[in-house]
Amino acid sequence: NQVEQMDIIKNSIRSIPGWPIKGVTFRDITTLMQDPDINRKTTDIFFDRYKNMAIDKVVGIDARGFVFGAILAHQLHVGFVPVRKKGKLPYKTISESYSLEYGKDTLEIHEDAIKKGERVIIMDDLIATGGTIGATVKLVEKIGGHIVECAFVVELPDLKGRSRLNGHSIFSIVAFD
Ligand code: AMP
Repeated sequence: NQVEQMDIIKNSIRSIPGWPIKGVTFRDITTLMQDPDINRKTTDIFFDRYKNMAIDKVVGIDARGFVFGAILAHQLHVGFVPVRKKGKLPYKTISESYSLEYGKDTLEIHEDAIKKGERVIIMDDLIATGGTIGATVKLVEKIGGHIVECAFVVELPDLKGRSRLNGHSIFSIVAFD
């Protein structure tokens, strides 16, 4: 059943206390991806959720969002769009900076990657403070995309990422304290 499936997915994620810095527990989804059955279970949850929502594009966030995002795009038979860290995309881009715990980072998207009014799912592995998804939402909206939902494998509710995304729908499969 549904609850057991969530537990199987959750238990397949490896937790690494104190990485990359003290005080953070890294939720490592590579152990989920390594297991073909659990990987498929996870990607099927997204596919079942979005298959009848007339999605036009899936946007994946650098780099773990590419994995789940590209699988979803393939299953939905729609285009895939990468949002990348600054300096990686070769054509004309627009940029959005966001603050990290220390300093800033910048994300970019190709300016012609989404057509006006296209219905978009944004995908990343995890939402923590919501800074990354917040910047990505701005990029997609600046080039005219209509965001149907932001999707994650993991959510860290204590960090209140949702509250940064006023009005946008957020979906996650599992949560960690
Ligand atoms: P945030 O911008 O704070 O929501 O952080 C989300 C981004 O940082 C995602 O792209 C995650 O891959 C990564 N991230 C942040 N915190 C963690 C964590 N505890 N475990 C794994 N990845 C994380």
